[in-house]
Amino acid sequence: MDSPHPYTGRFAPSPTGPLHFGSLVCALGSYLDAVAHGGTWLVRMEDLDPPREEPGAADRILKSLDAHGLHWQGPLEWQSRRHGFYEEVLATLAERDLLYPCRCTRAQIRAAGGHDNSGCRRGKRRDDGSAALRLKSAGGEEIFDDIWQGSQRQHIDDDTILKRKDGLYAYQLAVVADDIDQGISHVVRGADLLDTTGAQQRLFKLLGSQPPQFGHLPLVMGPDNQQKLSKQNHAPAIDDRRASKNLCTALGFLGFHLPAQLSGETPEQILSWAAARWQRRQVDLRNRHLA
Ligand code: GLU
Repeated sequence: MDSPHPYTGRFAPSPTGPLHFGSLVCALGSYLDAVAHGGTWLVRMEDLDPPREEPGAADRILKSLDAHGLHWQGPLEWQSRRHGFYEEVLATLAERDLLYPCRCTRAQIRAAGGHDNSGCRRGKRRDDGSAALRLKSAGGEEIFDDIWQGSQRQHIDDDTILKRKDGLYAYQLAVVADDIDQGISHVVRGADLLDTTGAQQRLFKLLGSQPPQFGHLPLVMGPDNQQKLSKQNHAPAIDDRRASKNLCTALGFLGFHLPAQLSGETPEQILSWAAARWQRRQVDLRNRHLA
């Protein structure tokens, strides 16, 4: 029987580099949470920012997911092919007078005493395509209950940029518009995105949509520093030839105690073993170092 509130989850990598161990843990966490709840798991390529992208990274990420048995259901979406849709979403916000062009830097806005006083928000300047487009979102706070990080209360201090000065659609616009369009009910991702969640929740509401359930997984930290593993600090690409071993290490990060023989199984067998045993509460909330 169809549930009235089906679970749809997603993994949404930006192709700024290959999949590294930290992103594998996020992909795996979102996959297991979806499958264990009888849900659908989608992949969306967030190729929205060509200057930051690495040629070939999107294909490498998809190959790595596949090699690790992380097969998505439903069509793969590419944000680079959805510009028309983002323009429509901006148009609906503009019709409701929720957008305004702004050329101010952060420092200028701070010096003016906030967006309200910056002049741009009140001005009637038309969008000629040369300024950033900001959402009238600042003010008050957003409250949500995160699966792993618990109850959150975030002040919304900024009028979020939805289209950048350089003409690129902003992550905040595309991620929320696509989550709504794809019917995403659960967003499971790394805790590095926790701070942006209040602003996203605000945008969900302004677009008349129920925000998804958010779950921010603890980050994997690099071996000799306090930084999370990330493409920016050149975390090494995971080796697809060691997929079963990688999955077992990633499952250890997610709190599983694995039988020794599991690493000899295929990725698909390992994933079905884990999906049958997945418990949200087993995830260790402390950021963990890669040994
Ligand atoms: N594309 C973003 C990233 O790779 C993640 C977006 C999200 O999961 O909401 O950091």
